Amino acid sequence: MLENKVALVTGASRGIGRATAIKLASCGATVIVNYQGSKEKAEEVVNTILANGGQAESYGCDVSDFESCGNMIGEIIKKYGHLDILVNNAGITRDGLLMKMSEEDFEKVINVNLKGAFHTIRHASRYFLKQRSGSIINISSVSGVSGNAGQANYSAAKAGLIGLTKSVAKELGSRGIRVNAVAPGFIETDMTDAMPESAKEAIKGQITMGRIGTPDDIAGVVVFLASDASSYVTGQTIAVDGGMVF
Ligand code: NAD
Repeated sequence: MLENKVALVTGASRGIGRATAIKLASCGATVIVNYQGSKEKAEEVVNTILANGGQAESYGCDVSDFESCGNMIGEIIKKYGHLDILVNNAGITRDGLLMKMSEEDFEKVINVNLKGAFHTIRHASRYFLKQRSGSIINISSVSGVSGNAGQANYSAAKAGLIGLTKSVAKELGSRGIRVNAVAPGFIETDMTDAMPESAKEAIKGQITMGRIGTPDDIAGVVVFLASDASSYVTGQTIAVDGGMVF
């Protein structure tokens, strides 16, 4: 399904990024497993892909650094000659009520979650335009769609990603480049692990399907958006939340 495609997944050493990298590779894509600090974990993802007959390599780069993103994408093009799928998954939280939120915590979340996606898109779109093809998938959040108390910084970044998705989709659509967002609900990963059980149970009560999501639930939709199965879909935000927000 994705044979001869090259995919870059940011923040792919664990969680949703890891599941997405593995699923893209299982569909035939060569996957660049981007990580920031955890080279060992990224290598584990690469080795899992290789053991299953897929192709992958890891690449360390902080997505909040504009130049580093340019170097990473430049190296991918130098090595493979093309880039076809860009998944902006890297993300962080610095939760807290607005009245207590530091400027640093606001900025840090915007720099990784929103500017990080701008950085990779800005560099990759040069090549996508030359190729006249490409699929960009931005991992937003239900918090960006409906807001969430204690996450003003995160929700602002994730809502910003939806605006970025729609605008870039409009700019690049006529050149065969599609840009979509996925808005996960509550997914079991390290990011949500720290929450107390009582809070998790309360959230479960808001989910129509009555269960917390898995990274694979998100990866399947990313593969759909990356593939020709979604060849006429652009500018969309697909909620993957078990019916949490609709
Ligand atoms: P996670 O914390 O397990 O994974 C995030 C990954 O991003 C990590 O591998 C981390 O190292 C990487 N990362 C962080 N900063 C980076 C940087 N500057 N450069 C490169 N990589 C960086 O979290 P997850 O739950 O797998 O989240 C993945 C994405 O899904 C995030 O964008 C998150 O906001 C989004 N999301 C998650 C949930 C959820 O419930 N887990 C819900 C909605 C959206």
